[in-house]
Amino acid sequence: MTSPLQQIRHPAAKKADVELWCKRDDLYTAAPGTALQGNKVRKLEPVILAALAAPVKPLLFSFGGAFSNHLSAIATAGRVYNLPVVVFVRGEEADNPVLDQARADGAELILISRSEYRMKGNHGWLLAKREEIAARYGIAKTSAWPVPEGGSAPGAAESVGKLYLEIVEELGSVPDYVCLSAGTGCSAAGVISAASSATHVEVYPALKGDWMTKEIIGFLPNIEGKNWSCISDYHFGGYARFPKEWVSESNLSRSTSPGTRALALIADIGQSGMPPLDPVYNAKLFYGVLDRIRKGVYTRGSTVVVVHSGGIY
Ligand SMILES: *Cc1c(COP(=O)(O)O)cnc(C)c1O
Repeated sequence: MTSPLQQIRHPAAKKADVELWCKRDDLYTAAPGTALQGNKVRKLEPVILAALAAPVKPLLFSFGGAFSNHLSAIATAGRVYNLPVVVFVRGEEADNPVLDQARADGAELILISRSEYRMKGNHGWLLAKREEIAARYGIAKTSAWPVPEGGSAPGAAESVGKLYLEIVEELGSVPDYVCLSAGTGCSAAGVISAASSATHVEVYPALKGDWMTKEIIGFLPNIEGKNWSCISDYHFGGYARFPKEWVSESNLSRSTSPGTRALALIADIGQSGMPPLDPVYNAKLFYGVLDRIRKGVYTRGSTVVVVHSGGIY
């Protein structure tokens, strides 16, 4: 599977003499219309392939916030690939569209307190949970596979990095810039690692703060000296915070749930053949890139590829 690369003929790009492209990873999916798309698919691919190849079908258990794309995506993966899925959900919220859909996909959701949720990185706690789940499902402990929050399992970053190779193939050359959004930074690490030194990778954190560079290096330490930087000015107040104009009337009921259906209504984006954008990650990214195009940041004649990482829009 690959996703298409589309040219965006935006007036600002034309004026700045920049060739603007979008890597449509929102179309990278076996289940259109679900959160199982884009980087969530690429991150889960290694674990799903391993699960499908295992002699005994494993159960996947993971962790997520009550509105998270990851929770939604892994539940859908369970349905699509016929694998049992259990997700520990942070907080008290028991009903929202994301959780309803995950249950409809057949996932078991276990609500745990915020304080217990913080234990998820603790090895002993994780083993105890695995034993509990294995006993309840009547399977061997070794058949209950933990998947880290956000889907950032071993091999996940490298798997996302393949999108860079697709871009080079589709473009027929090495792009001057590749721009992408970051939550945990796992996807960014993979793309940076895969990128040629002739490509500058720009990472746009969807969260506020200046710690993302360290997080990204934490995923793949070998990328430290590579050609990349974090552009930290387009978080719009922090995770899942964004201007209310970015949400369309028809989707208002869902828009109160970060990460669920909402449309970016940045006027000039909507008018220029742009794909729909989720407000949590990609609207911030595209806003930032267009702003920098207008400011003349990118060398004239250069090729800028923006990665649409998916998300529910
Ligand atoms: C999860 C997610 C991200 C963040 O990916 P990381 O690998 O955690 O940085 C970006 N975009 C979308 C649409 C996502 O769902």
